[in-house]
Amino acid sequence: MTRFVAFHLFGISLLVASCLATDTPADRAYRNGTVFTADVQNPVAEAVAIRDGRIVYVGSNEGLIRFIGPATRVTDLKSGFLMPGLVDGHLHPLEGGLRLRQCSLNYESLSVEELQQRVQACIDRTRSQEPDGWLEVASWFQESMRPAGVKTSRATLDALKTSRPIIVRSSFGHTVLANSRALALAKIANATPDPPGGKIWRDANGNPTGLLEDSAYAVYSDLVPKPTPEENVFAAKVAQEAVNRQGVTSFLDADAAPEDLSAFTAVQAAGQLTVRAHFAPLIEVAQGSDPVGAVAKVVGYKKQYDQGAIKAKPGITVRNAKLFLDGVIAAPALTGAVLEPYRVNAGTQENPHWVPGQNRGPSVYFPAQLLAEILVRLGRAGIDPHMHADGDGAVRAALDAVEVMRKQIDRGDVRPAIAHDEIVSPADFPRFKALDTISVLSFQWEKPAGDTIGLTNYFGPERMKILEPAGLLAAAGARIAFGSDWPVDALDEWFALKVGVTRTNAPSAPPEFHGKLGEDPGLSREAVLRAATIDAAYELHEDDVTGSLQVGKFADLIVLDRDPFKISAEDIANVHVLETVVGGRTVYESTSQH
Ligand SMILES: [Zn+2]
Repeated sequence: MTRFVAFHLFGISLLVASCLATDTPADRAYRNGTVFTADVQNPVAEAVAIRDGRIVYVGSNEGLIRFIGPATRVTDLKSGFLMPGLVDGHLHPLEGGLRLRQCSLNYESLSVEELQQRVQACIDRTRSQEPDGWLEVASWFQESMRPAGVKTSRATLDALKTSRPIIVRSSFGHTVLANSRALALAKIANATPDPPGGKIWRDANGNPTGLLEDSAYAVYSDLVPKPTPEENVFAAKVAQEAVNRQGVTSFLDADAAPEDLSAFTAVQAAGQLTVRAHFAPLIEVAQGSDPVGAVAKVVGYKKQYDQGAIKAKPGITVRNAKLFLDGVIAAPALTGAVLEPYRVNAGTQENPHWVPGQNRGPSVYFPAQLLAEILVRLGRAGIDPHMHADGDGAVRAALDAVEVMRKQIDRGDVRPAIAHDEIVSPADFPRFKALDTISVLSFQWEKPAGDTIGLTNYFGPERMKILEPAGLLAAAGARIAFGSDWPVDALDEWFALKVGVTRTNAPSAPPEFHGKLGEDPGLSREAVLRAATIDAAYELHEDDVTGSLQVGKFADLIVLDRDPFKISAEDIANVHVLETVVGGRTVYESTSQH
């Protein structure tokens, strides 16, 4: 094993490792397949061999023969498809695991009445919690409420038969709807000012409507009882099983609270970790005024939890930090920081007349100078910044800060990432490449749906053409990494990868969501698969050992039930993973017949 590492460092791993390997048979081998390697030098192969958790051979069936000994476990792929394991460059695994067990609205498009029925059903199922137990409702697809534009408020929840405090969390994770009891317990009233980085929606008299954006609902993290450590460990296991099942072998927890770190560390300590788990602790907006302290806190987490170099057996890595630069561009929140103001309706509901307004969303959550200083300090500490930027104003602020950082740090390998990039000024497209900054995209948003088409009035037809600009960014040379953002959406990696290619919704979507989104050309199948393997591995600083099938790398691979290059692009959504292997060990195997 060490031999490979040593030779790999000198860049001749392929040649030397293959020669050394002839004397020792492989532990496992796959043959008779179509192997997509994500390695530009050797893109397609038929067979793979694994020893001690590492790949010792990638090539033809004939070449594999000398790696097979009496004890080698050989899998005949029968013309099946094998590729590197998926690397999910942005998700929220603990939250995802917890939500799989919570009262959930399942991301569905609901009327107000249906929403009330669903929440009432949760209340009725948990009557023992009356009168004071908190009810938290997850995965509310606020932007897709029917009919489009319908308003919800605390009255929506106050009408339910309960006296319990209720908060309903929007699936985008930037809005909470609270009932009157929950508002009262949080002391959110007419006189309460909007906190920095947050917004309290109000009626004509200034009274809170119940809708709270971003830091305005932070108060609930102290009020609502937290899951116990045991519940968190269970949720972490549920989450890793769910992602392994979809073919994920590495992920970045893109907002890692201490509970996330301790839960996954406990899973690993029990010898049960089956995914390479990377964590990005959050630098809160309030910490922005103290860059030294903010970075020291992340470094503290790194010291406590990071397990150093990646090994065959999955471990815990802390070398990223998360920063939110704005909210979401989705209507009605409009908390994304944008360069051109959101348009407003100067007409009536019946006769709308949309004209440019004044509102550019919030100021970028971190002032430019402080953001740049934080990035410089992170870079010097060997921590990669992972910035949430939805609107083009926030994206520009992120790029500006990276530019300062690049000027001040001339050495070292800092890999800044800007996640979401839902709207980007065309002037900024080439800056991703010029500043060597990764665009981390959730491909499933690149389709006509409530959250995108619902923006047409606010953005106007010209800007709508370049919404979700994956193909345009790629054409400008940006390195694109995939991140599912689960549980902002349901966990469905293959649907997301399909949308990355087609920019279409599911065939079952309502007619108003048929067709392609905007004028962006989308990505090729190869580009989409690379974004979810080698390029996301680059984002996580593990591309030297994972992300592609190359001799010397760890054997993180998946076997699929169909070849994503040979089926219709639409059918990529239906790909099923038959086997997921991490470091040479099978962590998921489909039991269904194929
Ligand atoms: Zn996220």
